[in-house]
Amino acid sequence: MTALFASDLHLEPGRPEITRQFLEFLAGPVPEAAALYLLGDIFEAWLGDDVPDPLGAEVANALSAVSARGTAVYVMQGNRDFLLGDGFCARAGATLLPDPVIVSHAGGRALVTHGDALCTADGAYQRLRSLVRDPRVQRAFLSLPAGARRALATEARAGSRAHLAEAGQYITDVEPSSVEAVLREAGVDVLLHGHTHRPGTHALAVDGRRCTRIVLGDWHAGGSYLRWDARGFELVTLPRG
Ligand code: MN
Repeated sequence: MTALFASDLHLEPGRPEITRQFLEFLAGPVPEAAALYLLGDIFEAWLGDDVPDPLGAEVANALSAVSARGTAVYVMQGNRDFLLGDGFCARAGATLLPDPVIVSHAGGRALVTHGDALCTADGAYQRLRSLVRDPRVQRAFLSLPAGARRALATEARAGSRAHLAEAGQYITDVEPSSVEAVLREAGVDVLLHGHTHRPGTHALAVDGRRCTRIVLGDWHAGGSYLRWDARGFELVTLPRG
């Protein structure tokens, strides 16, 4: 039994090569897997499930085909597409996951999260995150017409870029004490996340327990996914043809 994990595709109409590679991934290794987990920032922007979106529809159709052939599809929201909801998931034949969530597979357990909630050294970002995750704020945003939502999202992305350009590398990475805290609370030895676009495998100790943190890569210059089967975990990169 194999489970595959990917995150941070940041699909957008202006980068059709990423969508093409993702659709190839769905046609290639994915059908042999028991489960596919998409851990957030699938889309560069998501204005709400009710806004007509040709790219979103194309991806939902492809995921729905994967799901119909027997691969369970799970979707988690990222910080770009935190408004992905039940409407999209129904069209994609997917299950929306809470963040974080414990995934049991191949006789093991892993704590799975997008990862932005672990970047606690970035106080400004965490304040923004609390705001945009507030159900009242989301309801207000979703009551706006699509054009107004698009304008606000564009403004927010410009602000985010300016902030990232200013903030130091360590500030925008996960905070080690937060990683330890979530592993301690969950009582599991493996943490899987994306968001930081710094793929790799890190060993750490939590109260003397040997733990592993695996970071998924982004799809900016090529594909990237994590394979989890009875032999363990393997980070795989897909060159872009
Ligand atoms: Mn992210």
